[in-house]
Amino acid sequence: MKRSNVAIFVPHRGCPKQCSFCNQKEITGCDTVVTKEDVSAAAERAFAGGCDTAQSEIAFFGGSFTGIEPEYMTSLLSAAYGYVSKGLFKGIRISTRPDYISQDILDTLKRFGVTSIELGAQSMSDKVLSLNNRGHSAQDVIDASEMIKSNGFSLGLQMMTGLYGSSDDIDILTARKLIDLAPDTVRVYPTIVLKNTPLEGLYLSGEYMPQTLDGAVNLCSHLIKLFNDAEIKIIRLGLHDSESLKSDYVAGPYHPAFRELCESRIFLNKIREYIFSDEQNKKFSRYRIEVNPRNISRVVGQKRKNIDELKKDGIEIKLAPNSSMPLSELTITPIR
Ligand code: SF4
Repeated sequence: MKRSNVAIFVPHRGCPKQCSFCNQKEITGCDTVVTKEDVSAAAERAFAGGCDTAQSEIAFFGGSFTGIEPEYMTSLLSAAYGYVSKGLFKGIRISTRPDYISQDILDTLKRFGVTSIELGAQSMSDKVLSLNNRGHSAQDVIDASEMIKSNGFSLGLQMMTGLYGSSDDIDILTARKLIDLAPDTVRVYPTIVLKNTPLEGLYLSGEYMPQTLDGAVNLCSHLIKLFNDAEIKIIRLGLHDSESLKSDYVAGPYHPAFRELCESRIFLNKIREYIFSDEQNKKFSRYRIEVNPRNISRVVGQKRKNIDELKKDGIEIKLAPNSSMPLSELTITPIR
């Protein structure tokens, strides 16, 4: 039976300032006030849809969940906990800001059955955090993460690439510092310029240049490798596709299949590395590549991008599907 996490957006209510990149209405597609009745209705819809809710979570995303009025927060949590305490859902997930975590807050979350906490870290550079009006420091991320883990919650960390004032090196350092905090999961979002945000003003005045799609794909394919090597699950890469996001998009590396572009780039890099880092391999121009059939489209690339890139390198490849190949691997053999 299919799992179905129930996602409830609680927009803007707990935000102390407006971060440079955020127009939360555009991201969530929602600017109405969520009620406890909405929480129950969403959970009931998941049951009615025949999903395996006992393996699913009720998730409160958007805003700064632990910064909303305490009575309002506990009213939403108690509606969700009514389902979790009966074993009808596995747990409750919330997302919030690193500076809105304290022992008191964690005690409340525990009481209402919260199991996972995601922090919007965004960057581990204080300069970048300040330029983007985040209102917290990298140390806040470290302190909150340690407190969350020592209280037995699952920890998720979110980071952004290409923020105003950042660079690939800073983003890689951010990923490394997040890895040091040993989160259970991460989400990685390349920065997109949205209408009606401070970042839009910086972009229009020429003060800020977003990453190109190709640059973001290159960087994020590197980040995937870092997180994979550390055995940290990436649960989201790139913003969700939505009509409201499309209508408020101004600039930046948005693509509805961003993760697939990155995974495809990883395969291209692997093939190039195999061929060009070895004097013997370099002598050939045709290669047979064995790959799991589920990865053929990634090896070929969107619109055959990888095939075309390799052609520019003077390389021709012949794909050999092999369902016993592990998903992350390729076997490359020169055709003599
Ligand atoms: S990024 Fe998060 S903290 Fe900043 S304004 Fe948006 S919802 Fe609030």
